[in-house]
Amino acid sequence: MSLTTARALQSLLDAADRDALSAIFGERVQFDAPIAPHTSWKIGGPADALVQVESESELAELMRFCFKAQMPWFVLGGGSNVLVGDGGMRGVVLRLGGGFAAVAVRVDEGRVIVDAGAAAGMAAVTAKAASAGAAGIGSLSGIPGTVGGSLRMNAGTDREMGDFVRDVWVQSPSKPEPHAVSVQYFYRHSTLAREEIVSRVTLAFERAEAGGVRQEMKSRLVRRKNTQPIDLPNAGSCFRNPEGDKAARLIEAAGAKGWREGGAEVSPLHANFINNVAGASAKDVATLLARVRREVRDRFGVDLQLEVHLVGVFVDET
Ligand SMILES: Cc1cc2nc3c(=O)[nH]c(=O)nc-3n(C[C@H](O)[C@H](O)[C@H](O)COP(=O)(O)OP(=O)(O)OC[C@H]3O[C@@H](n4cnc5c(N)ncnc54)[C@H](O)[C@@H]3O)c2cc1C
Repeated sequence: MSLTTARALQSLLDAADRDALSAIFGERVQFDAPIAPHTSWKIGGPADALVQVESESELAELMRFCFKAQMPWFVLGGGSNVLVGDGGMRGVVLRLGGGFAAVAVRVDEGRVIVDAGAAAGMAAVTAKAASAGAAGIGSLSGIPGTVGGSLRMNAGTDREMGDFVRDVWVQSPSKPEPHAVSVQYFYRHSTLAREEIVSRVTLAFERAEAGGVRQEMKSRLVRRKNTQPIDLPNAGSCFRNPEGDKAARLIEAAGAKGWREGGAEVSPLHANFINNVAGASAKDVATLLARVRREVRDRFGVDLQLEVHLVGVFVDET
């Protein structure tokens, strides 16, 4: 193994860092813990520290630790939009849980209001909101991530998360206590600063008849099941749609459906999905992504941009 690779794989935590994290989180911190089980692709090497954070005060404490120790960190939501390198992630990877998973739905002045912690799953949020008659919630149904990840990504379909957001609270190393921020939303990204971790969100919807909202959501979920390989490990659409076109259409027209690289395969059902069909590595997926991108560029002169976030250490040798 080269010296550069060895350095990239070396933990950034010393014994004092490990003791400090164990003192705060007890059994909720794991060292050299594999990230793969926490991603929808089931891919990714170990995190130096993987921490489950359950309250805003714990998150503030972790932020202060990272600030003081100058420790890199990364917040993982449902892991449904990330490709984690085979070399894993240096520093602290944190996942929100406990109180961050709460969802409360109320009706206020004829609108459906959803107060959700950042770790709440979109499945729970959309089901509860639909039962209260939240108009438009169907556009967010079937998205497998969390509220926090979906806000950062401005996830959605014909309508997006940002269309419904009323308030956002965040925490960060330089400002650890929860505070409200104003965020702007664009196609699959937002102006949320890199260092801001979403801790809770309030969404607001027009109110409609609940039966109709639930029915629309149901038919969208059926459509998804018929057109996307939702039972296989993948991360949804890999590339953003270019202006005025669809990435899936271009990839299919380039003849890439069914292409394989190691254990990774371009889905025969939906060309913008890459499935982990046989113990794929991050390297397999990254190689396939590059091949697809090159072919689409050579054939159609379109430079596809990644929607999935590539994070951690990508190495040829581990
Ligand atoms: C089968 C399938 C279908 C999908 N369909 C859609 C779709 O229709 N539309 C769509 O837009 N996407 C879709 N996706 C992609 C993905 O589900 C969304 O992007 C989702 O919003 C990501 O949420 P997550 O919690 O999994 O985020 P992660 O993948 O964990 O993280 C994504 C990014 O958000 C950041 N993040 C996570 N939590 C927080 C937080 N609390 N605060 C700040 N930043 C945070 C991470 O650091 C990372 O940069 C699909 C994925 C799959 C597997």
